[in-house]
Amino acid sequence: MRPPICIICDKDFRDSDEGGVIYFKKRKSDKKWTEMMEKKGMVGHPPYAEWFCGEHFESAKALEHLHIDEALKILSKKFKIK
Ligand SMILES: [Zn+2]
Repeated sequence: MRPPICIICDKDFRDSDEGGVIYFKKRKSDKKWTEMMEKKGMVGHPPYAEWFCGEHFESAKALEHLHIDEALKILSKKFKIK
């Protein structure tokens, strides 16, 4: 797992209890990734999961039923990330 830095605003919130990780809907490639990691007994940052700070967590949570790339597209428009 990567350190808790918001994908939207780059805020590092490891010293606070705000925000959290959102697991989005798995794409085919994400299912393969999970299988591969389980088989090898490895852990890592899932490609379908991302960190969100307290300010952006709720908006991301509302999109967790989507694939991560779709959700991030919507969020980047909403929060105007370049
Ligand atoms: Zn944020």
